[in-house]
Amino acid sequence: MSKTDEMRKIRDEVVALGGELAEYRRSEGNHAVLGEGSHDARIMFIGEAPGRNEAKTGRPFCGAAGRILDELLASIDTPRTDVYITNIVKDRPPNNRDPLPTEIELYAPFLDRQIGTIQPRVFATLGRFSMQYIMKKFDLSFEIESISAAHGKCYDSRAQYGNVKIVPLYHPAAAIYNQSLKDTLREDFKVLKEL
Ligand code: URA
Repeated sequence: MSKTDEMRKIRDEVVALGGELAEYRRSEGNHAVLGEGSHDARIMFIGEAPGRNEAKTGRPFCGAAGRILDELLASIDTPRTDVYITNIVKDRPPNNRDPLPTEIELYAPFLDRQIGTIQPRVFATLGRFSMQYIMKKFDLSFEIESISAAHGKCYDSRAQYGNVKIVPLYHPAAAIYNQSLKDTLREDFKVLKEL
């Protein structure tokens, strides 16, 4: 099966999913947000869950946090189309509440399949939920620190398809009203550029 066919299959399964968040999506006339970018990306960005704009449009990081992510990508001369951008949870939680552990459990297998299809070499996690999930997935649980200690570091691990690197980053939404955090994100993006 081609990468595109595999990604379509994942999308169709998420669209047909049951559960509170999928029901909420249907009741609001919203979209599931699978992800966007190159299926051959070397870097995968993983956020938490879609927000309001994302659920309306079906595109990840297209609101205020997305504008910051775009600026950060521009700061390292990386077009959005060269990377893959997604979230752990593919449906918007009501009122943008944090995803529940059971919701992460429900949606994470789809992220795992996206990872298996795209086979990125670098994971840039956005926020603590995706940091925790990816560090656990790649057997780095013993390394998990608070995001304030882990951000901008580069952790080495192995996927079935080869060596991978994980770079935890603050969530861009946290930088919307916080210039010093935005400066930190800019510095941390330089680590991605080196990779
Ligand atoms: N926040 C996220 O974590 N993901 C998005 O797609 C948008 C905002």
